Formats: sequence, structure tokens, C-alpha cells
Amino acid sequence: MVVMASSPPPPPPPPPPPPERRPGGSRPSAPVDSAWRRWGVWALAGALIVALFASSILPSDNGDEISYDEFTEAVAAGTVQSIEVNNNTGKIEGVRIVDDVEVDFTTNGPLEPSPVDRASWSENIPEGGVKFKTPTPGFLSTWLPFLLFPLLFIGFFIFMQRRAQGQMGSVMSIGRSKAKTYSSERPGTTFDDVAGYAPVKQEITEVVDFLKKPERFAEIGARIPKGVLLVGPPGTGKTLIARAVAGEAGVPFLSVTGSDFMEMFVGVGASRVRDLFQTARKMGRAIIFIDEIDSIGRKRGAGLGGGHDEREQTLNQMLSEMDGFEATEGIVMIAATNRPDILDPALLRPGRFDRQVIVPLPELEDRKAILKVHIKSKKISPEVDLNVVARGTPGMSGADLANLVNEAALFAVRQGDDVIRPIHFEQARDRVILGVERDSMVQTEEDLEKTAYHEAGHAICAAVLPENDPVHKVTIIPTSMALGVTMTLPKTDRYKMEKREAEARIVMMLGGRNAEALVFDDVTSGAADDLRQATDLARRMVSEWGMSDRIGPMSLTDPGPVFLGDDLMQSKKFSDDTAALLDEETKRILQEQEARCAGLLTENRKALDLIARALLEHETISGDEVNRLIGISHAEPGVLPEPVEVPSSTDDADVQS
Ligand code: ADP
Ligand code: ZN
Repeated sequence: MVVMASSPPPPPPPPPPPPERRPGGSRPSAPVDSAWRRWGVWALAGALIVALFASSILPSDNGDEISYDEFTEAVAAGTVQSIEVNNNTGKIEGVRIVDDVEVDFTTNGPLEPSPVDRASWSENIPEGGVKFKTPTPGFLSTWLPFLLFPLLFIGFFIFMQRRAQGQMGSVMSIGRSKAKTYSSERPGTTFDDVAGYAPVKQEITEVVDFLKKPERFAEIGARIPKGVLLVGPPGTGKTLIARAVAGEAGVPFLSVTGSDFMEMFVGVGASRVRDLFQTARKMGRAIIFIDEIDSIGRKRGAGLGGGHDEREQTLNQMLSEMDGFEATEGIVMIAATNRPDILDPALLRPGRFDRQVIVPLPELEDRKAILKVHIKSKKISPEVDLNVVARGTPGMSGADLANLVNEAALFAVRQGDDVIRPIHFEQARDRVILGVERDSMVQTEEDLEKTAYHEAGHAICAAVLPENDPVHKVTIIPTSMALGVTMTLPKTDRYKMEKREAEARIVMMLGGRNAEALVFDDVTSGAADDLRQATDLARRMVSEWGMSDRIGPMSLTDPGPVFLGDDLMQSKKFSDDTAALLDEETKRILQEQEARCAGLLTENRKALDLIARALLEHETISGDEVNRLIGISHAEPGVLPEPVEVPSSTDDADVQS
């Protein structure tokens, strides 16, 4: 192998396999080890004590024990051959003759043998047969009693400490042992596995190029984003895309879910972040993927009653780690979220997650492509038309579609078919739509129709009132915030709003709700956000812009600093009467504009039907198409507002849902 200065570093060795998990939960060899250590110590201590006591407590096997009286008699009878008297205990060991046989015996005599006994011994026991001994006690037996208690005491303490540690163990070791919250792999996923989403892939290939040859970027001095934020509803394949980036670049993929960093204990999340980055650095080049980053990346200090210490520390650690690695190091972070609006601005600053890639719910063509990927390994009847399936699944994410294909296969199996037929897709669709939770964006046919009329209402009000910005596009593909969207684009930048314009805008905002009321004689909760926006606008007209004659040219706001969340603590600088008047005037404006809106929609009832139908068919239509349909509905083209150039940029689009 030839190593050149600029050649990429050799791939890092594969990470060591994670320790096997046993049902017991600990490492395989650990129980034996620690059990030995724990019980061995105690067994040894016990044996020692027993041994020591045994020697003094148990009678040493020195023959029969006889009473002192019997002994005295034996001496008197002259059968005792020899004795040895222990001066310390008064114990006497000796040999006597019983039935012509010498036998050992012991007896317990007085500590101080009486002179009478002594005389009897020297008289009856053969010369030299009487001995006295004063045994010096062994070191252990002297000191053991003194040592034993402290030893037991210390042992007890150690025992308690161990036990306490056992209970506290999980507390002490959280930062480390559970640090492996992330998974590490070298995915084989490529961009081919991600169907559709050509623009997203286009945007992110730069990252792949960088990971493949970071030194080329470094030579030129090009700065690659350290962090890419994938924004989109759940199930749209954000994880899949991130994994494909790693797969394409052939680098390890470290993934973690934001909420996994969070523990009860402050500092744990931060230590996990540190650990994660350390691992990534060791690998050289890597992708760090953080799912649900909003769970740690929420705006700091938001909300009442102080912040969330643990989350803030975790976030701060992440920010400082991101600042810590060089842009040329070869680590790219990819994070996924559904709520970029609640992220802390510090996360989105240059050098951090400064690149956002939107991953929307798939449109018709994308859905078809995704379905194609997922039927690859399944047996599909030729009768199945993916166009039809894709058409019938607006609002479904990639994950929903994968689920749909699987459900269809299950229905086919259950019904004894050997291929998946159109009927199975229909059944699967009903199941998926019914099965998804209420907060999902998948709508039933009835809901879709209502959404279509709702958006058509907005679109018509926007298009026919010349004060409003021209319609850019209308869609009934849900976003994370709304079921459908009507987007208008200003012709030029604007910095102020005339009263007529404000009123026209309120009409447009109410258009969705009024269209529903007109067509279905009922309104849905889908208009809640429209109502809030319209009310806000009307209120500002009265309180800030002096657009109400009854209030007159008076500002009813206090532009002072707001500390605790918007509007919350704005101190009122006006009387309750004025406040009541403000409410009244706001209501009046809203009611007037609502009446105007209703009239407008009744006039354009035919256009409403046309646009709603077009939406149901195409899901997304352009502003030009809206104008064309309104023109058709009115036979005489004079009513048509001037056709408008639709700018391709949607950056400053005004969005009405
Ligand atoms: P997210 O991370 O956005 O919640 P995932 O990446 O977990 O979504 O996607 C879940 C599953 O949905 C994927 O594993 C894949 O099977 C399917 N999926 C989503 N988008 C696509 C796509 N564009 N092409 C193919 N499959 C997709
Ligand atoms: Zn709306």
C-alpha cells in the first residue's frame, strides 16, 4: 500500500461489539468474580475465628475427663503415673493405670491446689511425675479478642458501604455506563434507497462529497456546514436520508435520539454529548445524527418559572462541542426536527446548524416513487396501478406508504391470494387511515374535500381582491402546522399596510372558514389558526394603527420591554372602558369583513367548485391556475384581475392555511 500525504486516513477499525446482554443484565463473568470476592472474605474470616476458638473451647482430646474427686482418689490409690498441672487454668492432664493399662485423663482442678493435695501428689506419684507449666499464650489468642471487634466493625462498615453503593450504583454510573445511548454503524443505505426527493438529495450531496474528500475542500478553503438540519414531519425519511449520506460517503453513522440525552440528573446529558463527540473524533470521519433535536434544542430560558437546567446544560455542551471541532475535521452533524421554530437560535447560528433542508410530505410523483421502492420485494399483480394508489394517499408520509404496502401484503396473505391486488391496497388504505392517530396528517376523503374548499376559499379571496398579494400556489398537502396551504407572494417588499389592505387580508384569512360554511353549512376546527391571525390583525388595526374612528388616533400598546413571554405582562395603560371599546371595535371589523367575504364567495361559488375540484385532483395548483379557473367561471373575462408574474422564490411568501 502506498501512503500519500493527502490520502484519506485508513478506515477506523470497527467499533468493538457491544457487551452481550444477558437476562441478568450484567457482564457474564462478573457474578462469579464478585461472589467469590464477597463470600470468600467472609468464609475466611469465619474459618479463622472458628479455628481459634476451637482450640480453647473444645476439649483437646487428651483422654477421659474425670472429676477432681475421682482424681484425688486415684492419686491416693497410687494408680496415677504422672500429671501436668496448668498453672493458668488449674487443668490437670495425666496418665493413670486402669485395669493394668495406662490411660490418659484430664480433670479440672482448683487454680491453687491445696497443700494437702500437693502432699498427696508428691507422696503417691512416682518421682518426677508431677510437673507444673505456665503456658505463654500465643500471639493470636491473646490479641484476637481485641482485634476481633474492630475487625468485625470495619467489616460491617465495608459491607454497608457496598450495599449502599449497590443501590446508588445506577446513580453514580449513569454518565458512563449508559453513555452508549447512541448506535454506531456503517450503513449500506444509498440515495437509491431514498425514493423521490430529488431536491433534497441534490442539496445534501455536497456533504457526501465533503465526507469523501475533506482535504479537497480544505485546500480551497471552502467551508462546509458542520450541521445540517432536516426539517419535516415524522416519517418523511429524514433518518433514511441521513443514513444514506453516511452510506454514500462510506463513513460511520452515529445516531442518537435527542430525548436519550435527557436524564433526571443534571450533567448526565452533557457527559453523554461529550462521549458521543469523542467517539466520533476517534473514528475520524463520521456522521452524527440527532433525531428529535427539539427535545434538547428548545429555546433556552423560555417559559415561566426558570429554565430546565439539565436541558440547558446538554444544549450548551452540544454547542461548545460543535464549536470545538474544525470544519475540516470530517465530522458532519445531521439533525432532524419537525419544529424548527422552537429551536434555540444559538443552534442555528453560522458554524452550527446553519443549513436547513426541508423534507416535506411527498407529493404525488414522490409517493409513486416511494411505493415503487417498497413493492420491490413483494409480489404485485399487474392490475395494480401505482398512479391510482399514489393518488389516493395524499398526506401520507414515506413511513405511512411503507406501512401501506405491508398492510396490503398482509391482506393478500389473509385472503389466500398469492399476489397483492388493487383491492388489498384499498383495504390497506382504509386500515392505515383509520389506524393513524388523530394528530396525523392523513385525511379521509371527506376531510380532504373540506380542506380543498377551505383552501379554495382563501385562494379566491386572495385572487379577486386587488389589495391582496397575488396567489403563488395552493395545496392540500398538509404541513406540520396545517392541513393545507394557500401561499401569496408580495409583488414588492412592503413595510407598511394601508387600511384597505389590512381589511382585504382579513377577508382572505376568513375565506377558508366561510367557504366551508357556504358549501357544507358547517365549519371545522381547521380554521382556528386563521381566526387567530384575523383577530390579531383586526386588533392591531384598532390598537396600534389608529384605524378605528371610535378609538381615534390613540395607541393602546405599551412598547416597553417584555420579559416574560410575549404579551403576557404588558401593563395596561388605558381604562377598562377603552379596553371594552377595543374589543368591540375589533369584533366590528371582523364581522364586517366576514360579511364581505361571504358575499364574495357566493358571487364566486362556481369558481370555488372549480378550484376545489382541481385541488382534489392535483393536490397543488399554481396561482395562475387559480386565476384561470376564476376566469372560466365568469364567462366574461373583464372581472379577471391582471395576470401576475409568479416569482419562483418563496422566501417571503405569505402563507395562509
Ligand atoms: P423520519 O426520520 O423522518 O421520521 P424515517 O427515516 O424513520 O422518517 O422513515 C421511516 C421509513 O419510511 C423508512 O425506513 C422508509 O421505509 C420509509 N420512507 C420514508 N421516506 C422514504 C423515501 N423517500 N423512500 C423510501 N422509503 C421511505
Ligand atoms: Zn385556513
